[in-house]
Amino acid sequence: MKKKSLHAINRLHHRAAELTHLNNIMALLQWDQEVMMPSGGAEGRGAQVATLSCIIHQKICDPVLGNLLLEAAESSGKASARDRALVRVMQREHDRNTRMPEKFVAAFARLTSRALPVWVRARKENDFGLFLPLLEQIIAMCREKAGFLGYTDHPYDALLDLYEEGLTTRLLDPLFAGLRDELAPLLQQTASAVEKRDLLADLAPMPRHDQVRFSETLLKEIGYDFNNGRQDVSAHPFTTSLGHRDRRVTNRFRPDSLEFIFSGLHEGGHALYEQNIAAELADSPLDEGVSLGIHESQSRLWENIIGRSRPFWQRYYPLLQEFFPVQFKDVGLDDFVRAINRVEPGMIRVEADEVSYNLHVLVRFELEKELLGGTLEAAELPGLWNDKYKNCLGVRVDSDANGVLQDIHWAHGSFGYFPTYTIGNLAAAQIWQAYRAFDPAWTETLQQGNLEKIRRWLTEKIYRFGGLYPPADLLQRVCGEELDSSHFLAYLKNKPEFCL
Ligand code: ZN
Repeated sequence: MKKKSLHAINRLHHRAAELTHLNNIMALLQWDQEVMMPSGGAEGRGAQVATLSCIIHQKICDPVLGNLLLEAAESSGKASARDRALVRVMQREHDRNTRMPEKFVAAFARLTSRALPVWVRARKENDFGLFLPLLEQIIAMCREKAGFLGYTDHPYDALLDLYEEGLTTRLLDPLFAGLRDELAPLLQQTASAVEKRDLLADLAPMPRHDQVRFSETLLKEIGYDFNNGRQDVSAHPFTTSLGHRDRRVTNRFRPDSLEFIFSGLHEGGHALYEQNIAAELADSPLDEGVSLGIHESQSRLWENIIGRSRPFWQRYYPLLQEFFPVQFKDVGLDDFVRAINRVEPGMIRVEADEVSYNLHVLVRFELEKELLGGTLEAAELPGLWNDKYKNCLGVRVDSDANGVLQDIHWAHGSFGYFPTYTIGNLAAAQIWQAYRAFDPAWTETLQQGNLEKIRRWLTEKIYRFGGLYPPADLLQRVCGEELDSSHFLAYLKNKPEFCL
């Protein structure tokens, strides 16, 4: 390797570390805002976040970094996998940020921060017309953004790629078409076959401190390391990275809801991924999950595939009963497992069961694609939304608040984000299939609570690599094939709780 290029790589590492530290500090400001900050701190915090965002943006767009990347790329043929990945990931960041004029980025940020409270009011008052003018501007700017970022086939592709490297409408079209054909009938079938009553509807309130302790216990069981993380409370559960050995989760605890168990496993899955990234990737943008879709595959694997399975609860249900003797003494294991696997088509995505969830995403994918392609006006959204819910889920939407206004994503300007949820669900089932081939006795592994065996395999195959390989390459390495929805469909069809 030429001396000059070696020098470039070293300087690139230095810059990568600096940017990572600034992003960690940003995460700390945001974690504090969600978990600790008094409400009076909001204005000052907003200003601090804006200043820091500006500094980070300038550092990523720095022309000196652009030149450094060119020099480093010259020698990348002979560089280590880590150095090649660093060049690739930083080049992506640099390009994405320099392609959008600074004025546009600032205007987009102003627009979405204006839109957010209007969306909140529109949803509360069930008044889509209130949000419509802002939504129209956001869509227009998203189309402009796609133009700046560049695309080959469809403007939507430019936005999809922001969240999932390499994702395109060309890849998603057949994937969603297949899901629609299979899931819609499966949903009707399972919804009519499974338990109608909510067996846990009248659960006595569960004391908060017991919920916190049970959630901590489950996190420890799946291998979450409290020396390198902590669990706190926030309005919406999330996982964040404040450093290589500081990966935090939050949860919420409501007296009459089991949600804390599944959001705990969900965030635990995200955090396990990041806690097990190889130390040599620390202080770089490779020290995080590779994409939103792959990240979500890890949360969904622990939350749904493992966390809603009977063998898992054969091990842990006695523990739950020990923690909450009043609530569960008269509920048998089978009833509990059936209750946490109820299938019921509904209006709300975040409350959806495993069978209907991806149909909620499908509706959003089809609408976003048309909005970005310019073949659909925002004013037509409520009517179309309700039609699609009727056709895909067999659900009558009773209001825009429970329909087109339910998600925060569009007010944020995050067009292209929704499909990563489905990528996560599909990849989780596909990765689980690969795990089962490795461990044919997986049922006993779960029954014995030998979750370490699963975590070790996931670390070996996925976690340790962080952002080293693009998402599609990683999946290819783990499963020997590209993303394929058949594993997810087979998983649903074979799940005992769904075929009574
Ligand atoms: Zn998640």
